[in-house]
Amino acid sequence: MARVDLKGISKRYGSSVALAPTTLAIEDGEFLVLLGPSGCGKSTLLRIVAGLLEPSAGELWLDGELASERTPRERDVALVFQNYALYPHKSVAKNLAFPLEVRGLSRASIEQRVRETAALLGLEALLERKPGELSGGQMQRVALGRALVREPRLFLFDEPLSNLDAATRAELRREIASLHARLAITTLYVTHDQVEALSLGARVALMRQGAIEQVGAPLEVFRRPLNTFVATFLGSPPMNLVPVSINSGRYTLGGLSHLGAPVDQGALVLGVRPHQIQLGPASARALPARIESIERLGARALLRLALREAELSVEVDGASDFERGAGVSVAWPPSELHWFDAHTGARVELSR
Ligand code: ADP
Repeated sequence: MARVDLKGISKRYGSSVALAPTTLAIEDGEFLVLLGPSGCGKSTLLRIVAGLLEPSAGELWLDGELASERTPRERDVALVFQNYALYPHKSVAKNLAFPLEVRGLSRASIEQRVRETAALLGLEALLERKPGELSGGQMQRVALGRALVREPRLFLFDEPLSNLDAATRAELRREIASLHARLAITTLYVTHDQVEALSLGARVALMRQGAIEQVGAPLEVFRRPLNTFVATFLGSPPMNLVPVSINSGRYTLGGLSHLGAPVDQGALVLGVRPHQIQLGPASARALPARIESIERLGARALLRLALREAELSVEVDGASDFERGAGVSVAWPPSELHWFDAHTGARVELSR
């Protein structure tokens, strides 16, 4: 197991910044997810920790030891990629044994560790097959096994589930979570998939354009996003954002004046998640809206509503009998409103 400390680690390619100076601690046994859109610097950070990429500046510490000079093997990290990178001519058993052979373990202990790992991952029936005879999910299971077999002190995952179909992804997600619960190996996991991030991470670090925007427990990041990027990256459909101008602490929406703005004057963005919006019958005193479209998804349905100044996404129970074109009224619990600065996008807390 290992504690990882990044201190001002950065990476540049010429004048372009792949990773801005980043300071981040991953606790011993923690599962930390790096989440963000393609190109935001997740893999760069992961590869620097693995020792595959040299940082332009900063220090990497592993268990209180400066790791910058250590080779990937000396760092004792195991990597699992999107492309399983198995040896195609070796059987599953030989693929699992290989990392132990290169470390010079005895034949008996190699056999025992391969057996244990195969049992842990349900690979016993596949041990004699070649990778070409496996499904994508099975290949990634073997890749997981090959990473696990030598009990590394640090697990690094780079989009390990991206090539798999939805059902296999969900199954392996549960598997990875349960392995971590049992083995508590420090894990750094890169993904662009918010479901993986929220379900696997003890903490999630959200990245944009080479910088970490927010780090926190999944629910904390979801419930209290520090800016509009985090607010809209997490959640599907994303949080509704509506620019409003505030006068004497009131704002206008749907032709009605509302109390409850966090400042007296200024331009803000109001945020509300689609599942927090409550719909009622049209009424002169409530916020009026019209249903523009309905997308039925079984257990839930997604509506697009037109207000006078804005459109809103709303998530409702799939059995609701709303109709396109109908008038409704819109409400939300005041505690579920988020406010952001219209210029910087930074969160503005309600102080009153
Ligand atoms: P992510 O993993 O989040 O998709 P990466 O860490 O791979 O993003 O890349 C971060 C940024 O660095 C991207 O803009 C990418 O184009 C750039 N980058 C990555 N590798 C190189 C390289 N070898 N030369 C120049 N730019 C690179």
